[in-house]
This record gives sequence, structure tokens and C-alpha cells, in this order.
Amino acid sequence: MKRSTDKTWVDAFQQRYSVRERIFLFYMFFFAGLAVLTILANLASGFDFSFNYKWMAISGFCLALGLLAIKRIKTELVHRVGVYTLSLVILPASWLSSAGLMSPSMVYSVVALLLINFLLAGIERIALNAAFLGVNLALISLYHFQPGLFRTLSAEEQFLDWMVNIPMLFVFTALLLATFERAYERERMVNIEKTKKLAALSRTDSLTGLQNRRHLDEDIEERVRDCRDKGTPLSIIVFDVDYFKQFNDAYGHLQGDECLQTIASLLREAALRSGDKVYRFGGEEFLILLKDTDQAGALAFARRLKADIETAAIPHEQSAVAPIITASMGIATGQPPEVEGQTLLDQADMALYQAKASGRDTIVCFED
Ligand code: GH3
Ligand code: MG
Ligand code: MG
Repeated sequence: MKRSTDKTWVDAFQQRYSVRERIFLFYMFFFAGLAVLTILANLASGFDFSFNYKWMAISGFCLALGLLAIKRIKTELVHRVGVYTLSLVILPASWLSSAGLMSPSMVYSVVALLLINFLLAGIERIALNAAFLGVNLALISLYHFQPGLFRTLSAEEQFLDWMVNIPMLFVFTALLLATFERAYERERMVNIEKTKKLAALSRTDSLTGLQNRRHLDEDIEERVRDCRDKGTPLSIIVFDVDYFKQFNDAYGHLQGDECLQTIASLLREAALRSGDKVYRFGGEEFLILLKDTDQAGALAFARRLKADIETAAIPHEQSAVAPIITASMGIATGQPPEVEGQTLLDQADMALYQAKASGRDTIVCFED
């Protein structure tokens, strides 16, 4: 139970803040915590209280920026203030107040370098990287030419300094990279899923749930290639509801929608049985792609569809052909190697036109 609550909290946090924002928060709260720990250690060791002023300033500064970033107040500005202050003020100051090159300051510089490159972009990132390199080279030179400006630590103190700071920095960097490697990976997976869903949505008709025209355009070329490779015929049926305008006028648009949904599920079931694909071609027009199917096969399939529609017996009092919903169908069959997607569509359309012209509620196969 506790575990699932934690997970929700973490999820909410991850959803609210971008990876970049989380990196910034990670730095600010880590350094605030580090400063507080140092103060406590100083107090415990009985050092003069004045040692703590610097650490108090750092913890206050990082906490304040961390809280502003959590509340999303002027986030971009807060990020900049954090990065610039850390790299150009706090880091050099900590070099100067420590034993310079004899302290782990250079390791802290690398940690700050990571933050610069996580948070900034473009020319600003290049400029601050260059400035920060300059600052570090200046500090190294200063240590070389003016060692008196730095503190001198006893061998014991220096040993302790490294022994405390190095594990802390290792843990910090490992946590940072592990956490954010996972975050990037997670975000990448979420994006892949979203893209897949959007792609599927853009190929699905929202009223009937069938694949739409766009999907057909993609599929038909694939089917044509497939049928050329295998040398098998490919058939299509264009299916158009008869007098559907009158149906809408008589029963209303909503009932018209329902009728289209019923027809769509009839077609879907029929196509499922044979492993073929059905599309909503537009309005009250549907299309079925029949792979490895010759004209006789397509005709048999169309007759079964006709029977299914009759069995459904959706009342249509205004139809001039029957008191129930009927449909006209045009069939076209391609024999490899001359099969062309667009030609098949045109031929099926011409056959449908003939079916309508000859009185509707009928099936016509295109013949050359
Ligand atoms: P025909 O027998 O010649 O095919 O006549 P028809 O009335 O079926 O064809 P027509 O192309 O004249 O009209 C098609 C009608 O289909 C008109 C349009 O309002 C209706 N329609 C198209 N899409 C939808 C839809 O999503 N929902 C509903 N309810 N009606 C639709
Ligand atoms: Mg129609
Ligand atoms: Mg039509």
C-alpha cells in the first residue's frame, strides 16, 4: 500500500517537472543539504562559528532557489541565477577559502560543469563553458603563483577533506546520472507510446472505429506489392449505402450515425472471418481489401455481405428499392503483374456507378 502511494507521488512529481527542472532541484537541495551537514559537523567539532557564515549563505541561497524552482516562479531566470552563481561565484570562493589544488575543489568544478551543460543551451552554453574554463585556469595559476592566498591544511586535515568529499561527490554524481538516465529513458518511452497512439488515431475513423482512407492509402500499396511478389490476384469491393441521404432526412442524423456503426460492425465481422481489411472510405462508403482473391471469390464475399445486410434488416421506409437498408457494391480485381492501386480504386468506382445506375441494391464486377 505504502509502496503504491510513493509511486503515485513520484509519478506526479515526474509529470509536473521536466528532466531539466528536476536536475536543477537535485543540485539545489543536494548543495543546501551538504551545507547544512557541514555546519553541523563544524559545530560538533567545536570550530569557530565564523567558519559557518559561508555555508549558511550557500544553504540559504540554494534553498531559496530550490523553493522558487519548485513553485515554478520565473523558472528560467532562477535556473540561470543558480548556474551562474554556482560556477562563477560559489565555486571560485570555495577554491579560495580552501587549500586550492590540494583540496577537492577541481572535482566540484566538474560537478558544476555538468549543471552548466544540463541547463544551458546554444551560444550561452558555449560562452559559460568557456568562461568557466577560464575561471578554473585562473584559479590554478593563482594557486601556482600566489599560493599564499589559499589556506594551508595539515596533512591530516587534507586527508580528511578528501576522504569526506570524494565519496560524497561520487554518490552525488552516480545518483544524478542514474536517476536522469532513467528519466530520459522513461520520457523517451512515453513519447514513443504517444506517437504510436497518435499515428493509430490519425488512421482510425472516429465514428465506426474502422481504419480510414489514410490507412487505406498506406495499405493498398503494400498489398499491391505483396500480390505482385506472390503472383496472386487482389480484389477490392467498394460498398455504398443506398439512399442514405433519405435515411438521414427521415430518421435524423444520429440514427444515421448508428446505422453506419451497425453496417461497419457487420463489415468488420465479415472481413475478420476471411482475414481481410475493411475501411471507411468516406461518408456512407466502405471499402474491403481482399488479398489472394480473384473475381469469383470477391463476388462470393460481396454476396455474403449483401445477405448479412438483409438479415440485419435496418428499416428504411424512404428507400426506393426496399423497405430496409440496402447497399450497392462495385468490385475490381487485379491480376499480377499489371496491378495498380489507383487503377483498382477507379475500376471499383466505375463498377459501383453502374450498380447505382442499374437500380441499386446490386453488385457489379468491373470488366474491361
Ligand atoms: P445513393 O443511393 O446514390 O448512394 O444515394 P445516397 O443518398 O446514399 O448518397 P449521397 O451521396 O447523395 O448522400 C450520402 C449521404 O450520406 C449524405 C450525407 O449526409 C450522409 N452522410 C455522410 N457521412 C455521414 C455520417 O457520418 N453520418 C450520417 N448520419 N450521415 C452521413
Ligand atoms: Mg449512398
Ligand atoms: Mg456515396
